[in-house]
Amino acid sequence: MYDYYEPKLADEPINVALNAAIERGHYFEARVREQLVAAGLTFAPPQALEFKAVNGDLRGHADGVVIAGPNPLGSAYVNYPFIWECKALNAKNYRALARNGLEKEFPRYAAQTSLYQAYLNLHNPVLFSAVNADTCEQLHFWVPFDAERAQLWSDRAANIIAATRAGELLPRAYKDPGKFPCKMCPHVERCWGSS
Ligand code: SF4
Repeated sequence: MYDYYEPKLADEPINVALNAAIERGHYFEARVREQLVAAGLTFAPPQALEFKAVNGDLRGHADGVVIAGPNPLGSAYVNYPFIWECKALNAKNYRALARNGLEKEFPRYAAQTSLYQAYLNLHNPVLFSAVNADTCEQLHFWVPFDAERAQLWSDRAANIIAATRAGELLPRAYKDPGKFPCKMCPHVERCWGSS
């Protein structure tokens, strides 16, 4: 939202923790991708991962699109092509995800996968990979397409962009700047600075 509301401040401090977390995510993403390729999966080129919507104001890219690979049990189990998403989590969040599932524990990631499926027009179940960044354990599961969820979040994103473009700063979605996701948010200084 802040990217639309006002440009990034030139002297805005660098969020070292956020940068480190992003680098950690890239490391684990590359590592899991290598393992999936070694298992026989073929990834589409990077340009196949990107989408633009809402007149170009809503942009994103999936971590991967898998176009081919082994299918020992037939299409009842693996349907190509499919989107791949990979997240590195701390041990607490990893265990919570394994116990409670994506929708309950990380609704923002569930929303993200649905939006990617809708905008990339790839409705086969997403392969979601989670890595325990503390132990390197991995969890892989399918996330089926939920058209209702995709529509809901698409409408929500369009409304936020329209309101912000019109100069209306919507209420914060979270209550504590010291907790996730605010403490890792690149806009935390502007969002909470005057509070
Ligand atoms: S600091 Fe928190 S409430 Fe503000 S934009 Fe970031 S995530 Fe949203």
